[in-house]
Amino acid sequence: MGCVTPDADTIDHAAVVAWIRRFAAEIDEHRAELVRLDTAIGDGDHGTNMDRGMRKVVEKLDGAAGDDIGALLKAAGMALVSSVGGAAGPLYGTLFLQMGSATGGAATLDTAGLTQALEAGLRGVQARGKAEPGDKTMVDALVPAVEALHRAQSDGVAVGEAARLAAAAAEEGMKATIPMEARKGRASYLGPRSVGHQDPGATSSYLLLRSAAEAFANT
Ligand SMILES: [Mg+2]
Repeated sequence: MGCVTPDADTIDHAAVVAWIRRFAAEIDEHRAELVRLDTAIGDGDHGTNMDRGMRKVVEKLDGAAGDDIGALLKAAGMALVSSVGGAAGPLYGTLFLQMGSATGGAATLDTAGLTQALEAGLRGVQARGKAEPGDKTMVDALVPAVEALHRAQSDGVAVGEAARLAAAAAEEGMKATIPMEARKGRASYLGPRSVGHQDPGATSSYLLLRSAAEAFANT
């Protein structure tokens, strides 16, 4: 820890490209698991939907130029909105679009910048999905991640380590969805029968944070 000079410990456009590519790879690797989780309490399409969407995002990345992190995240959000059906497309699309709005014109992000971005994304998801913590949704992984980033920011933690702390918090949040009864989305139709299953959206959100930790590990 200690002092962090303003221009030290930042991630750049290339690191965010690496983050998005890593997330696409994680979704591909865990597609069957996400399908299994969504089959238990939903309609079973989360793994295939997210995989299709992230493949579209990666296609866009291949033509991404410049150093504007906000433009990059917005392009990813647009690709998700236009290619992913079900609840995941609008929610993950909104997450990326709002992260892009929060980072418009930025060529680098420090811990504060990453915190603001993910918090804006979370707010967008909550505005769109109307989910609160404890509803057994992706919000249950994202809220602890944002809280961990805020703590890292006030402790002066560099962005790579901050992402690792956020991923660890998201993992705890994901696991905490297992005993919850779903109150939002298709899973809520199951009522008490949704208890005992890990939420697929919280799982993919954990993968998003784990991908950031992996992509920013050398920062
Ligand atoms: Mg589904």
